[in-house]
Amino acid sequence: MAEQHWREVEGLVLPQPVALHPALELVNTYSGWDGTHTSDYLVSYDHLAVLAGALDLLPAIDVRRLRRAARRQPEAATNALERACTVRAVIRRAVLDPADPEATSELTVATRSAATTVQLLPGTPARWWVPGIAPDDLDRPADAFAWAAADLVTRPDVTRVRTCPGRGCGWVFLDTSGRRRWCSMQWCGNRAKVRAHAARSRTPRPSGIG
Ligand SMILES: [Zn+2]
Repeated sequence: MAEQHWREVEGLVLPQPVALHPALELVNTYSGWDGTHTSDYLVSYDHLAVLAGALDLLPAIDVRRLRRAARRQPEAATNALERACTVRAVIRRAVLDPADPEATSELTVATRSAATTVQLLPGTPARWWVPGIAPDDLDRPADAFAWAAADLVTRPDVTRVRTCPGRGCGWVFLDTSGRRRWCSMQWCGNRAKVRAHAARSRTPRPSGIG
């Protein structure tokens, strides 16, 4: 596991993938949902497209075409990025509370846009592996994430989505073992251990014990 929360992909800074599902990795481009401390990795359309490519939701050749299309249409790219941020918030609500009918119906609407370009391949998670399907449609990264999220919310293990309790973190991940508590033991887990240790050593022990 890497030592920091981020990694560099094609020269862009993106979050480390820790969530075990691409839809959750999109959610983790944002920290501070509780409003205490916010940070956002989706600072440009390029970041969004490269993230979708890095998570195998879009073929590399299409990511390159999308980035070129975004440079030609900066306003449309800004709108597509904003939509992706909306989809990101909807995914978070839908996976953390699958019983929330509003979030589920918003995700359903987002998925409809994806349905026009999705290519199903037998035995493969529903992703856009085939290059060249609507390669210049700037909504494709957000569509791909929405489709991936639809896959997750309709699986029984959506109940295994957890939120990291690390201070200022809030990243989400799949707890496949049933014992996973932290986004990463190395970051939030260790920090919590160090804090707990510091708190214990500040507490004076009664004489004669320990
Ligand atoms: Zn964390």
